[in-house]
Amino acid sequence: MNLQQLVRKNVWNMKPYSSARDEFKGEASVYLDANENPLNDRYNRYPDPLQWALKGKIAEIKGVAPEYIFLGNGSDEPIDLVIRVFCEPRIDNIVAIDPTYGMYQVCAEVNDVEYRKVLLNENFDLDAQALLDRADEDTKIIFLCSPNNPTGNLLNRTEVVKVLDSFEGIVVIDEAYIDFASEVTWLNELSNYPNLVVLQTFSKAWGLAAVRLGMAFASPEIIKLFNKVKYPYNVNILTQNFVNEELDKAALRKEWVDTLLKGRDYLNAELAKLPFVEKIYPTDANFILAKVDDANGLYKKLADRGVIVRNRNSVSLCAGCLRITVGTDEENKILIDTLLGL
Ligand SMILES: *Cc1c(COP(=O)(O)O)cnc(C)c1O
Repeated sequence: MNLQQLVRKNVWNMKPYSSARDEFKGEASVYLDANENPLNDRYNRYPDPLQWALKGKIAEIKGVAPEYIFLGNGSDEPIDLVIRVFCEPRIDNIVAIDPTYGMYQVCAEVNDVEYRKVLLNENFDLDAQALLDRADEDTKIIFLCSPNNPTGNLLNRTEVVKVLDSFEGIVVIDEAYIDFASEVTWLNELSNYPNLVVLQTFSKAWGLAAVRLGMAFASPEIIKLFNKVKYPYNVNILTQNFVNEELDKAALRKEWVDTLLKGRDYLNAELAKLPFVEKIYPTDANFILAKVDDANGLYKKLADRGVIVRNRNSVSLCAGCLRITVGTDEENKILIDTLLGL
């Protein structure tokens, strides 16, 4: 892979903004370099633009070096950045599986980059050759999501390897749900594939959707490009410090995941007993995709009773489907009792 050929020329050639915090690193007693107000305390200073303390801790947990990590305002930030770094608007294109997470297409369209969808098969698995066939010399990124949203399944590893081996551009694998999955993360493959970008998030298993922190893992060369284009202080100090503390809860997070997986088993079993549930798809995530006999009607009936699920009826290959997040034991029971009472 030739990184320079893949990157947009303007991005490759530009000089990034250099903040006061970039220019002086280290300890000093008097800081008069950033036009901050010294009279307030705690939050008056600009935060570390590259979040090294937090990355150091994440690096230990994930088993990757800090230079391989980018942190952003949710995963949505690196999704947007990877497009802005690599895709020339109106010239380059993106290939992605379909159905999948909606933000890839939204970010492509905001950036005026053509987005090519390749349907998954009836088992919601990918055909690597079909993806590769849709790619041409202007395809810069292939988006994969495993476990996939809204289908819930892990993508077939052999097919993903075929994509990684054969595609000369960037392959993004979104692992927002990897903590719930029965297979290992693609992080272990970063050193084998310089074109691989893995996305993870604190929004799901870590239970921190409100703090907005997403992670991208890739070669230091790709991470440097993300850092060049991002807002200088994209992760505020409240988030940096708070997540730093939350990372000490690894044992608790594991308990949460175990509880949610049991809840998933319960929902799978109970939903299967309902006459209007036609099919429950296998899931490796903290949600279940279920095909029902009248998705719109059932969605409405549940909503009228205060139970909100996601109606995926109009999504490719998901006609008739509702996506149900695993809740607390109590919430799961309310859902099932409500369905039984219809
Ligand atoms: C929920 C989700 C995310 C998380 O996005 P954040 O911006 O980190 O909250 C990313 N990708 C997929 C596929 C998701 O379902």
